[in-house]
Amino acid sequence: MRYAILGDIHSNLEALQAVVREAHKLKVNRFVSVGDIVGYGPNPQECMDLLESLPCMSVAGNHDQAVAGVTDFSGFRKEAQDGILWTRENCDAAHIQQLESLPLVYEGSDLSVVHASLFQPDQWEYVLSKYQAFVSMGCQKGLVCFYGHTHLPVIFRSDGEIFPLIGDPITLSGGYRYFVNAGSVGQPRDANPCACLLIFDAKALTLEMHRVAYDIAETQKKIRQAGLPEVLAVRLTYGR
Ligand code: ZN
Repeated sequence: MRYAILGDIHSNLEALQAVVREAHKLKVNRFVSVGDIVGYGPNPQECMDLLESLPCMSVAGNHDQAVAGVTDFSGFRKEAQDGILWTRENCDAAHIQQLESLPLVYEGSDLSVVHASLFQPDQWEYVLSKYQAFVSMGCQKGLVCFYGHTHLPVIFRSDGEIFPLIGDPITLSGGYRYFVNAGSVGQPRDANPCACLLIFDAKALTLEMHRVAYDIAETQKKIRQAGLPEVLAVRLTYGR
């Protein structure tokens, strides 16, 4: 089974379409979304509909739950709050219901998925250190768990090793656990504006990060037309 792991999509349809096209070329069988399908960007419903058309499962991100009214977002940055309110106004009841029904954690036979951390997943901790990753891995049943939230691709291994997720494929070894951040499809923050597409081959146990160029100018145009905060358009140019 070959999985495409999709990190924080954030209503960026052009990025999602480009990543899905590339994933099909790479002979992927299934898609997995680590949550934050919506928020920030101009096409929440279109992104949800595209995921629905694929063999894809998704967990809930904090933005998904904020839009659905499940989680409090008063602590979000101003531009994120504006994005939540805009998304609420621009989604119909069926799509809001869909967001509300996303699970916090998915446990499959090949992989686990969570948006922030397996330790108290509804607390939306940003896992940036090996200690935080270790705590999450303490709640992890299988070899690998994929997560998002920080928009920074990285591999944490249960012995404390940290590996960058760039370039050559990386083979997972059965003696460890891995907590892997898939980066972000719709709003990369690692100074590379190209969308992240992480491929997990569950038979070969390999991880392969692809970066996919997409029509950033088109997304920026839509963000401005929607009246969303300007910073949300500008940051896409820089991958910040
Ligand atoms: Zn996010």
